[in-house]
Amino acid sequence: MLVDDFGRTIDYLRISVTDRCDLRCNYCIPKGYHDFESHENWLTFDELTRVVSAFARLGTRHFRLTGGEPLLRKNFPILVKQLSQIDGVDDLSITTNGTQLANQADALYRAGVNRLNVSLDSIRRECVEKITGSDCLDQVLNGLKIAKDVGFKRIRINMVPIPGQNLQDIEHMIQFCIQHDFILCLIEVMPMGNTGQQTKNIDLQFILKDLEKKYALLPIHEPIGNGPARYWQSAKNVHFKLGLITPLSRHFCETCNRVRLSVDGTLYMCLGQNNKMALQPLLRANCSDAELENAICQAIKLKPKSHEFIEKPCQINRIMAATGG
Ligand code: SAM
Repeated sequence: MLVDDFGRTIDYLRISVTDRCDLRCNYCIPKGYHDFESHENWLTFDELTRVVSAFARLGTRHFRLTGGEPLLRKNFPILVKQLSQIDGVDDLSITTNGTQLANQADALYRAGVNRLNVSLDSIRRECVEKITGSDCLDQVLNGLKIAKDVGFKRIRINMVPIPGQNLQDIEHMIQFCIQHDFILCLIEVMPMGNTGQQTKNIDLQFILKDLEKKYALLPIHEPIGNGPARYWQSAKNVHFKLGLITPLSRHFCETCNRVRLSVDGTLYMCLGQNNKMALQPLLRANCSDAELENAICQAIKLKPKSHEFIEKPCQINRIMAATGG
């Protein structure tokens, strides 16, 4: 097992398979952004397989593929199949914006993806367009429908509530999720890059207070997924489950169980700190499996105690899509 210097077991690796995205969410990738990683620096499928295998040998059991937009990576379902067949990969999930889901949901389900998170900040077409820079709502809704049809269960919808943009959509999103049996997960904006730093955040504890009363929410204690979300179930409606990710208003660093691999093979120890280790040079120098495992163990020692999003809100220049959200 990987255990860091603060006694936390690290059993979750989030992997960015591309830093490109077809959307430009206004709190994430700035319009006109050009600092994407060049293709020759992207880890190949074989290199990704080596890293995932090494983590699996070190006891990591949960893996999430993300980006950028992971479904834009060429032959993505082939990569998924390759990773899902690795011994020890018990849980392989994806975070996507859903624009390419209609074409790929079936292949991804058959390749071994067991959970899907789909990001959607509103079900008002003009609001989605304003936030993402693209008139993509119909595409995403169609992708969600097909994902359900091919067999994905308990799909989670990630929504970032932003004052002045989509706060009034929370209620619509709840009704939409109830209707389709999706789990709604609200996420606080993290000050990552200029975009994240310039976006107004809302303290989700206030939203929770309102929703607790209205829907008679009760905390769910058994884990759903393996991430930082806390969940509630409505006592009034079995179809309403709510998740909250509150890195600012109630951080969860003491139970952090994850590290992130960016598309160029850099392991980031924390979204809100700069501690990292580059694995690409080792991989390209044909390191042995033991050397790779050793580097990962050394990297875990660099994991900081907590982020400092509140104390140092301008510290992180990387946008979320560059690290892998
Ligand atoms: N393209 C995929 C998607 O949209 O789900 C995966 C990558 S995206 C960076 C992953 C998640 O990060 C999305 O739910 C997005 O809303 C969220 N995100 C991006 N920037 C953020 C920020 N500064 N704070 C909080 N969440 C952010």
